Amino acid sequence: MKITIGHLYPDLLNLYGDRGNIQCMRKRCEWRGIEAEVREYQLTDSIDFSNLDIVLLGGGSDREQMLVCEKLKTIQKDFRDYVEAGGVVIAVCGGYQLLGHYYDTDDGRIEGLSLVDLYTEQGSPRLISNIVIENELFEQPIVGFENHGGRTYIGDNRPLGKVKFGYGNNGKDGAEGILYKNVVGTYLHGPLLPKNPGVCDYLIRNALERKYGKSELAPLDDSQELEANQYIVGRFC
Ligand code: GLN
Repeated sequence: MKITIGHLYPDLLNLYGDRGNIQCMRKRCEWRGIEAEVREYQLTDSIDFSNLDIVLLGGGSDREQMLVCEKLKTIQKDFRDYVEAGGVVIAVCGGYQLLGHYYDTDDGRIEGLSLVDLYTEQGSPRLISNIVIENELFEQPIVGFENHGGRTYIGDNRPLGKVKFGYGNNGKDGAEGILYKNVVGTYLHGPLLPKNPGVCDYLIRNALERKYGKSELAPLDDSQELEANQYIVGRFC
C-alpha cells in the first residue's frame, strides 16, 4: 500500500513548523509498512490531484496568503473535484481560512477556494492561546496552539471539535475547525499531528479507505504522545 501526500506551497505556507505534520504522517505510515511519498509544490508548479491521497495546506501570514490566493484561482476547479470525490485535506490556520469563501483583512479581501462553506473576518486582538478541543470521533482531546487574527464562521457545518480551553474559530461560538467530507480544517498549529496521533491516523485511514476500500490501521505504541497530550489537558482544563 502506498499514499502520496501533496504539500502545497511550503515556501509560503509553513508557519510554526507545519512541515512536522508531513513528517508525522509519513512516519506513522512507514511504521506500519505503508509507503508514503511526499511531493512539494511551489507556486509555479502544476498539480495533478488525481495522483494525491492527502493534501496539506499550512499556515501563513496575511501577506503570504495574499500571494497564494491568486494561484488558488487557477487550481480551484481541480481542487474542488478532489474534495468532492473524498480526497483527504488537512488545512491549518492560514490554509484553513483559504478553504473558505474569503478572508477579509484591513488590507483587502483574500479570496479563498470556496471548497467549504465558511468565511473569515479579521478581528482584534489576535487570538493567541494554548487550546484544547474535544470531539467524540477521537479518543483523546485534541491539543495545540493557536495564533490568528481571523475569526472564522462555519455556519451549520460540523466543527473539528468543541473548545474546552482557548478561542477556536472565532472566540464566540465554542467551535473549532471544520470537518467536511474528508477535509479537516483547524487553527491548531504546532505541529498538530505529532501531538494528536488520533487525528493523524484519522487522515491516513480516510486516505487508505478511499484508495483501497476498508482499511484497519495496525496499532502503534503511542504512550509518549498520549502522556504529553494528557499533560497539556491537565494543565489547561
Ligand atoms: N494570517 C492569518 C491570521 O492571522 C493566519 C495566521 C496563521 O496561519 N497563523 O488569521
